[in-house]
Amino acid sequence: MAYTIAFFGTKPYDEASFNDKNKEYGFELRYYKGHLNKHNVILTQNVDAVCIFVNDTADAEVLHMMADNGVKLLALRCAGYNNVDLKAAADCGITVVRVPAYSPYAVAEYTVALMLSLNRKIPRATWRTRDGNFSLHGLLGFDMYGKTVGIIGFGKIGRRAAELFHAFGCPILAYDSNPIAQMPDYVQQTSLDELLRHADVVSLHCPLVESTRGLMNAERISMMKHRAILINTSRGPVVDSQALAEALNSGHLAAAAADVFEMEPPIPREHPLLNAKNCLVTPHIAFASEESMLRRAEIVFDNLYAFLHGEQKNVILPR
Ligand code: NAD
Repeated sequence: MAYTIAFFGTKPYDEASFNDKNKEYGFELRYYKGHLNKHNVILTQNVDAVCIFVNDTADAEVLHMMADNGVKLLALRCAGYNNVDLKAAADCGITVVRVPAYSPYAVAEYTVALMLSLNRKIPRATWRTRDGNFSLHGLLGFDMYGKTVGIIGFGKIGRRAAELFHAFGCPILAYDSNPIAQMPDYVQQTSLDELLRHADVVSLHCPLVESTRGLMNAERISMMKHRAILINTSRGPVVDSQALAEALNSGHLAAAAADVFEMEPPIPREHPLLNAKNCLVTPHIAFASEESMLRRAEIVFDNLYAFLHGEQKNVILPR
Protein backbone atom coordinates (compact mmCIF):
# COMPACT_ATOMS: atom_id res chain seq x y z
CA MET A 1 0.00 0.00 0.00
CA ALA A 2 1.35 3.45 -0.91
CA TYR A 3 2.35 5.84 1.87
CA THR A 4 0.03 8.82 2.13
CA ILE A 5 1.33 12.35 2.55
CA ALA A 6 -0.91 15.35 3.22
CA PHE A 7 0.49 18.65 1.93
CA PHE A 8 -0.86 21.91 3.29
CA GLY A 9 -0.72 25.41 1.82
CA THR A 10 0.25 24.18 -1.64
CA LYS A 11 0.43 26.30 -4.77
CA PRO A 12 0.40 24.98 -8.36
CA TYR A 13 4.21 25.21 -8.59
CA ASP A 14 4.56 23.10 -5.41
CA GLU A 15 2.27 20.44 -6.78
CA ALA A 16 4.07 20.39 -10.15
CA SER A 17 7.49 19.79 -8.59
CA PHE A 18 6.24 17.17 -6.09
CA ASN A 19 4.20 15.32 -8.73
CA ASP A 20 7.23 15.25 -10.98
CA LYS A 21 9.52 13.82 -8.29
CA ASN A 22 6.86 11.41 -7.06
CA LYS A 23 7.21 9.42 -10.29
CA GLU A 24 10.26 7.89 -8.57
CA TYR A 25 8.47 7.18 -5.27
CA GLY A 26 4.81 6.42 -5.93
CA PHE A 27 3.54 8.00 -2.70
CA GLU A 28 -0.15 8.95 -2.45
CA LEU A 29 -0.11 12.74 -2.32
CA ARG A 30 -3.03 14.78 -0.99
CA TYR A 31 -2.79 18.51 -1.58
CA TYR A 32 -4.69 21.09 0.45
CA LYS A 33 -4.53 24.76 -0.51
CA GLY A 34 -5.38 25.97 2.99
CA HIS A 35 -2.64 26.44 5.54
CA LEU A 36 -2.51 23.89 8.34
CA ASN A 37 -4.25 25.09 11.49
CA LYS A 38 -6.45 23.72 14.25
CA HIS A 39 -9.57 23.95 12.07
CA ASN A 40 -8.34 21.74 9.24
CA VAL A 41 -5.98 19.43 11.13
CA ILE A 42 -8.74 16.81 10.89
CA LEU A 43 -7.47 16.29 7.32
CA THR A 44 -4.39 14.61 8.78
CA GLN A 45 -6.40 11.51 9.73
CA ASN A 46 -5.10 8.32 8.11
CA VAL A 47 -1.97 9.87 6.63
CA ASP A 48 1.59 8.72 7.20
CA ALA A 49 3.20 12.15 7.06
CA VAL A 50 2.26 15.81 6.87
CA CYS A 51 4.21 18.30 4.74
CA ILE A 52 4.03 22.02 5.52
CA PHE A 53 5.68 25.34 4.63
CA VAL A 54 6.51 28.59 6.43
CA ASN A 55 2.96 29.88 6.76
CA ASP A 56 1.37 26.75 8.24
CA THR A 57 0.73 26.56 11.97
CA ALA A 58 2.37 23.72 13.87
CA ASP A 59 1.92 24.92 17.44
CA ALA A 60 1.37 22.66 20.45
CA GLU A 61 -2.40 22.48 19.91
CA VAL A 62 -2.14 21.49 16.25
CA LEU A 63 0.68 19.03 16.90
CA HIS A 64 -1.23 17.25 19.65
CA MET A 65 -4.27 16.96 17.37
CA MET A 66 -2.02 15.56 14.63
CA ALA A 67 -0.54 13.05 17.05
CA ASP A 68 -4.07 11.98 18.08
CA ASN A 69 -4.72 11.34 14.38
CA GLY A 70 -1.72 9.00 14.35
CA VAL A 71 0.72 11.24 12.45
CA LYS A 72 4.34 10.39 13.25
CA LEU A 73 6.23 12.65 10.83
CA LEU A 74 6.05 16.36 10.07
CA ALA A 75 8.11 17.11 6.97
CA LEU A 76 8.87 20.79 6.42
CA ARG A 77 9.44 21.83 2.82
CA CYS A 78 11.57 24.78 3.97
CA ALA A 79 14.76 25.46 5.90
CA GLY A 80 13.40 27.71 8.67
CA TYR A 81 11.30 26.04 11.39
CA ASN A 82 10.25 28.97 13.56
CA ASN A 83 6.57 28.07 12.99
CA VAL A 84 6.97 24.64 14.65
CA ASP A 85 6.84 24.03 18.39
CA LEU A 86 9.66 21.49 18.45
CA LYS A 87 9.27 20.70 22.12
CA ALA A 88 5.57 19.95 21.71
CA ALA A 89 6.38 17.78 18.68
CA ALA A 90 8.89 15.78 20.72
CA ASP A 91 6.43 15.49 23.62
CA CYS A 92 3.77 13.98 21.40
CA GLY A 93 6.11 11.68 19.47
CA ILE A 94 6.18 13.52 16.15
CA THR A 95 9.52 13.63 14.34
CA VAL A 96 10.19 16.88 12.49
CA VAL A 97 12.39 16.95 9.40
CA ARG A 98 13.30 19.86 7.17
CA VAL A 99 15.12 20.82 3.99
CA PRO A 100 18.26 22.49 5.29
CA ALA A 101 19.42 23.84 1.95
CA TYR A 102 17.53 23.72 -1.30
CA SER A 103 17.91 27.26 -2.41
CA PRO A 104 21.21 28.87 -1.41
CA TYR A 105 21.81 29.92 -5.03
CA ALA A 106 18.24 31.14 -5.52
CA VAL A 107 18.22 33.23 -2.32
CA ALA A 108 21.74 34.61 -2.74
CA GLU A 109 21.09 35.56 -6.38
CA TYR A 110 17.78 37.15 -5.40
CA THR A 111 19.57 39.18 -2.71
CA VAL A 112 21.87 40.56 -5.39
CA ALA A 113 18.86 41.22 -7.65
CA LEU A 114 17.23 43.25 -4.85
CA MET A 115 20.48 45.14 -4.29
CA LEU A 116 20.86 46.02 -7.98
CA SER A 117 17.19 46.99 -8.22
CA LEU A 118 17.78 49.41 -5.37
CA ASN A 119 21.09 50.95 -6.35
CA ARG A 120 20.10 51.33 -10.02
CA LYS A 121 16.44 52.20 -9.21
CA ILE A 122 15.16 49.70 -11.75
CA PRO A 123 11.53 49.48 -10.51
CA ARG A 124 11.15 53.28 -10.64
CA ALA A 125 12.78 53.47 -14.07
CA THR A 126 10.37 50.81 -15.37
CA TRP A 127 7.22 52.55 -14.05
CA ARG A 128 8.37 55.85 -15.54
CA THR A 129 9.26 54.41 -18.93
CA ARG A 130 5.92 52.62 -19.17
CA ASP A 131 4.24 55.95 -18.38
CA GLY A 132 6.14 57.63 -21.22
CA ASN A 133 8.42 59.53 -18.83
CA PHE A 134 11.98 59.13 -20.09
CA SER A 135 13.61 61.58 -17.68
CA LEU A 136 16.72 60.43 -15.82
CA HIS A 137 16.01 62.89 -13.04
CA GLY A 138 16.32 61.07 -9.71
CA LEU A 139 17.50 57.86 -11.34
CA LEU A 140 21.21 58.30 -10.71
CA GLY A 141 22.49 55.10 -9.12
CA PHE A 142 25.86 54.06 -7.74
CA ASP A 143 28.40 51.36 -8.55
CA MET A 144 28.60 48.33 -6.30
CA TYR A 145 32.35 48.18 -6.95
CA GLY A 146 34.17 49.27 -3.80
CA LYS A 147 31.08 49.33 -1.55
CA THR A 148 31.44 47.35 1.67
CA VAL A 149 28.87 44.60 2.12
CA GLY A 150 28.16 43.22 5.60
CA ILE A 151 26.72 39.71 5.79
CA ILE A 152 24.95 38.77 9.03
CA GLY A 153 24.71 34.98 9.29
CA PHE A 154 27.53 33.36 7.33
CA GLY A 155 25.84 30.03 6.55
CA LYS A 156 25.02 28.51 3.17
CA ILE A 157 23.13 31.51 1.79
CA GLY A 158 25.32 34.17 3.42
CA ARG A 159 28.46 32.51 2.07
CA ARG A 160 27.06 32.37 -1.47
CA ALA A 161 25.89 35.99 -1.27
CA ALA A 162 29.42 36.95 -0.18
CA GLU A 163 30.88 35.18 -3.24
CA LEU A 164 28.54 37.08 -5.54
CA PHE A 165 29.17 40.48 -3.93
CA HIS A 166 32.91 39.77 -3.97
CA ALA A 167 32.65 39.34 -7.74
CA PHE A 168 31.42 42.95 -7.94
CA GLY A 169 34.59 44.11 -6.19
CA CYS A 170 32.93 44.68 -2.80
CA PRO A 171 34.95 44.30 0.40
CA ILE A 172 33.02 41.76 2.53
CA LEU A 173 32.48 41.84 6.30
CA ALA A 174 30.82 38.88 8.03
CA TYR A 175 29.27 38.41 11.44
CA ASP A 176 28.08 35.04 12.70
CA SER A 177 27.29 34.02 16.27
CA ASN A 178 28.95 30.64 15.65
CA PRO A 179 32.53 29.91 14.58
CA ILE A 180 32.88 30.15 10.80
CA ALA A 181 34.67 27.23 9.18
CA GLN A 182 36.75 27.73 6.03
CA MET A 183 36.44 31.47 5.92
CA PRO A 184 37.23 32.73 2.38
CA ASP A 185 40.32 34.93 2.38
CA TYR A 186 38.39 37.88 0.96
CA VAL A 187 36.02 37.99 3.93
CA GLN A 188 36.82 39.89 7.12
CA GLN A 189 35.08 38.52 10.20
CA THR A 190 33.89 41.27 12.54
CA SER A 191 31.69 41.89 15.54
CA LEU A 192 28.09 42.84 14.83
CA ASP A 193 28.69 46.44 15.94
CA GLU A 194 31.74 46.84 13.71
CA LEU A 195 29.86 45.41 10.73
CA LEU A 196 26.95 47.81 11.23
CA ARG A 197 29.29 50.81 11.54
CA HIS A 198 31.29 50.04 8.40
CA ALA A 199 29.00 48.36 5.88
CA ASP A 200 27.39 50.32 3.05
CA VAL A 201 25.04 47.40 2.53
CA VAL A 202 23.89 45.05 5.30
CA SER A 203 22.35 41.76 4.18
CA LEU A 204 20.62 39.43 6.64
CA HIS A 205 21.10 35.67 6.30
CA CYS A 206 20.62 34.38 9.84
CA PRO A 207 17.71 32.15 10.91
CA LEU A 208 14.85 33.37 13.08
CA VAL A 209 15.71 32.14 16.57
CA GLU A 210 15.40 33.81 19.96
CA SER A 211 18.81 35.51 19.58
CA THR A 212 17.88 37.02 16.20
CA ARG A 213 14.31 38.12 16.93
CA GLY A 214 14.44 41.93 16.75
CA LEU A 215 18.20 41.79 16.03
CA MET A 216 17.87 44.82 13.77
CA ASN A 217 16.06 47.03 16.26
CA ALA A 218 16.04 50.84 16.36
CA GLU A 219 19.37 50.99 18.20
CA ARG A 220 21.19 48.73 15.74
CA ILE A 221 19.60 50.42 12.73
CA SER A 222 20.83 53.75 14.10
CA MET A 223 24.36 52.29 14.26
CA MET A 224 24.30 51.66 10.50
CA LYS A 225 26.15 54.14 8.29
CA HIS A 226 24.24 57.19 7.17
CA ARG A 227 22.63 56.37 3.77
CA ALA A 228 23.41 52.64 4.07
CA ILE A 229 21.09 49.96 2.67
CA LEU A 230 19.48 47.03 4.51
CA ILE A 231 18.36 43.86 2.73
CA ASN A 232 16.29 41.21 4.49
CA THR A 233 15.75 37.86 2.82
CA SER A 234 16.01 35.91 6.10
CA ARG A 235 12.87 36.20 8.24
CA GLY A 236 10.68 39.23 8.97
CA PRO A 237 10.88 39.32 12.77
CA VAL A 238 14.69 39.69 12.60
CA VAL A 239 13.97 43.35 11.77
CA ASP A 240 11.84 45.87 13.67
CA SER A 241 9.80 47.06 10.68
CA GLN A 242 8.57 50.21 12.37
CA ALA A 243 12.13 51.24 13.26
CA LEU A 244 13.31 50.46 9.72
CA ALA A 245 10.47 52.51 8.20
CA GLU A 246 11.40 55.45 10.45
CA ALA A 247 15.07 55.21 9.43
CA LEU A 248 14.04 55.23 5.75
CA ASN A 249 11.55 58.07 6.12
CA SER A 250 14.03 60.21 8.08
CA GLY A 251 16.70 59.63 5.40
CA HIS A 252 19.13 57.92 7.77
CA LEU A 253 19.05 54.85 5.53
CA ALA A 254 19.04 55.35 1.76
CA ALA A 255 16.96 52.30 0.91
CA ALA A 256 15.89 48.83 2.02
CA ALA A 257 14.52 45.64 0.55
CA ALA A 258 12.31 43.18 2.39
CA ASP A 259 11.31 39.79 1.03
CA VAL A 260 9.99 38.74 4.43
CA PHE A 261 7.77 40.34 7.08
CA GLU A 262 6.58 39.62 10.61
CA MET A 263 3.70 37.70 9.05
CA GLU A 264 3.74 35.60 5.92
CA PRO A 265 1.75 37.25 3.08
CA PRO A 266 -0.89 38.61 2.86
CA ILE A 267 0.61 41.66 4.55
CA PRO A 268 -1.77 44.33 5.88
CA ARG A 269 -1.90 47.42 3.68
CA GLU A 270 -0.91 49.62 6.60
CA HIS A 271 2.34 47.69 7.17
CA PRO A 272 5.09 50.30 7.75
CA LEU A 273 7.39 48.88 5.07
CA LEU A 274 4.68 49.03 2.38
CA ASN A 275 4.53 52.77 2.95
CA ALA A 276 8.16 53.64 3.70
CA LYS A 277 10.43 55.64 1.38
CA ASN A 278 12.71 53.71 -0.98
CA CYS A 279 11.65 50.32 0.26
CA LEU A 280 11.45 47.44 -2.18
CA VAL A 281 9.01 44.76 -1.02
CA THR A 282 8.41 41.25 -2.37
CA PRO A 283 6.17 38.44 -1.08
CA HIS A 284 8.73 35.90 0.25
CA ILE A 285 9.91 34.66 -3.12
CA ALA A 286 13.70 34.60 -2.79
CA PHE A 287 13.68 30.78 -2.76
CA ALA A 288 11.38 30.43 -5.75
CA SER A 289 13.36 29.21 -8.74
CA GLU A 290 12.55 26.16 -10.87
CA GLU A 291 15.75 24.46 -9.81
CA SER A 292 15.19 25.05 -6.12
CA MET A 293 11.61 23.70 -6.31
CA LEU A 294 12.80 20.41 -7.81
CA ARG A 295 15.71 20.17 -5.39
CA ARG A 296 13.31 20.79 -2.50
CA ALA A 297 10.92 18.04 -3.65
CA GLU A 298 13.87 15.67 -3.95
CA ILE A 299 15.02 16.35 -0.37
CA VAL A 300 11.50 16.20 1.12
CA PHE A 301 10.89 12.79 -0.47
CA ASP A 302 14.34 11.57 0.53
CA ASN A 303 13.62 12.60 4.16
CA LEU A 304 10.21 10.90 4.04
CA TYR A 305 11.55 7.73 2.46
CA ALA A 306 14.32 7.50 5.05
CA PHE A 307 11.88 7.96 7.95
CA LEU A 308 9.39 5.44 6.59
CA HIS A 309 12.26 2.94 6.34
CA GLY A 310 13.45 3.46 9.90
CA GLU A 311 16.23 5.98 9.21
CA GLN A 312 16.50 9.63 10.17
CA LYS A 313 17.53 12.36 7.76
CA ASN A 314 17.51 16.11 8.44
CA VAL A 315 15.71 15.71 11.77
CA ILE A 316 15.32 18.90 13.85
CA LEU A 317 15.63 18.36 17.58
CA PRO A 318 14.29 20.78 20.22
CA ARG A 319 16.98 22.94 21.82
P1 NAD B 1 22.35 28.24 7.55
O1 NAD B 1 21.91 27.46 8.74
O2 NAD B 1 23.26 27.58 6.57
O3 NAD B 1 23.05 29.61 7.99
C1 NAD B 1 22.56 30.44 9.00
C2 NAD B 1 23.76 31.09 9.69
O4 NAD B 1 23.27 32.03 10.63
C3 NAD B 1 24.62 30.08 10.46
O5 NAD B 1 25.97 30.22 10.10
C4 NAD B 1 24.38 30.45 11.92
O6 NAD B 1 25.52 30.21 12.74
C5 NAD B 1 24.08 31.94 11.80
N1 NAD B 1 23.41 32.48 12.97
C6 NAD B 1 22.56 31.87 13.84
N2 NAD B 1 22.20 32.71 14.81
C7 NAD B 1 22.84 33.89 14.56
C8 NAD B 1 22.88 35.15 15.23
N3 NAD B 1 22.24 35.36 16.37
N4 NAD B 1 23.65 36.11 14.68
C9 NAD B 1 24.35 35.90 13.54
N5 NAD B 1 24.36 34.72 12.89
C10 NAD B 1 23.61 33.74 13.39
O7 NAD B 1 21.00 28.72 6.85
P2 NAD B 1 20.81 29.22 5.35
O8 NAD B 1 20.43 28.08 4.49
O9 NAD B 1 21.97 30.07 4.96
O10 NAD B 1 19.48 30.10 5.51
C11 NAD B 1 19.48 31.25 6.34
C12 NAD B 1 18.05 31.71 6.56
O11 NAD B 1 17.53 32.21 5.34
C13 NAD B 1 17.05 30.58 6.94
O12 NAD B 1 17.08 30.30 8.33
C14 NAD B 1 15.73 31.16 6.51
O13 NAD B 1 15.14 31.86 7.59
C15 NAD B 1 16.13 32.15 5.40
N6 NAD B 1 15.62 31.70 4.10
C16 NAD B 1 14.85 32.57 3.40
C17 NAD B 1 14.34 32.20 2.17
C18 NAD B 1 13.49 33.15 1.35
O14 NAD B 1 12.87 32.71 0.38
N7 NAD B 1 13.45 34.43 1.67
C19 NAD B 1 14.63 30.93 1.65
C20 NAD B 1 15.44 30.07 2.37
C21 NAD B 1 15.94 30.47 3.61
